[in-house]
Amino acid sequence: MGVEMSLSPFSMFGQVQLSAPGHACLQCNGFITTENLSKEAANYGQKTKRPQVVWPNGVLASTAIGIAIDMITNWTNTIRESEYLSYNANDHSTSDHIMKAYRSKICPHYPILESGPLTID
Ligand SMILES: [Zn+2]
Repeated sequence: MGVEMSLSPFSMFGQVQLSAPGHACLQCNGFITTENLSKEAANYGQKTKRPQVVWPNGVLASTAIGIAIDMITNWTNTIRESEYLSYNANDHSTSDHIMKAYRSKICPHYPILESGPLTID
């Protein structure tokens, strides 16, 4: 979630991502890269250029909870292995993130064969 303050009006946006073993992870989605991790580490503890806003973060968190509840209850009859949603807080819309069309569907970073058994404790 962030606010782009260089635009007029300000642009508020965010994303919700679901990563399951063997399917696109945050690296496959292009969300986490070596470059942006280095930038974040260099600026750790510094004031962010993209302030956080409570209410859109609540929308994103609630969307993530909805996905999790669907995975547990299967109330939509949809098998969810990966999600990458884009949230536009200016018009209050959620849609598939543009990167979803370009990412790897099978994750090379965390192969399914290296995951453990599915358990709920
Ligand atoms: Zn991956």
